Amino acid sequence: MPLLDPTPRLAIDPKSVQVHLTAGTGIDIEWKDGHRSHYTFQFLRDACPCALCDDERTKVRRMPGEPPQVAPGALPMFKAAAKPVSVEQVGKYALRFHWNDNHDLGIYSWAYLREVCPCGECSGMQKSEVRRQK
Ligand SMILES: [Zn+2]
Ligand SMILES: [Zn+2]
Repeated sequence: MPLLDPTPRLAIDPKSVQVHLTAGTGIDIEWKDGHRSHYTFQFLRDACPCALCDDERTKVRRMPGEPPQVAPGALPMFKAAAKPVSVEQVGKYALRFHWNDNHDLGIYSWAYLREVCPCGECSGMQKSEVRRQK
């Protein structure tokens, strides 16, 4: 079962993007269709769309943005909360984060960000689709 449709259903641009880098609270996007999305930095780090992270997620069937599971009985390793050191815009279509764990391979396109929007409305939609596929 593919976890994520590779062709985005909603090719939509943001009307405004706010990155709260100093406050560390994440990013807010208001889309041209009026929808608003809020992403925490931890969510975005766990949703990194690069081939490396995507591969790791696929292996354990983790959804983008879902935190990695700690194996039963294993001690959780201490990890500093994910925070970008810097954020740059890539052309007109994406954001690129340079994370505090030195990872910067993920290009977060608007289409991808909209696809993984964690709000109740959107994630509810994704879940009902998963149910339908079963
Ligand atoms: Zn990555
Ligand atoms: Zn949403």
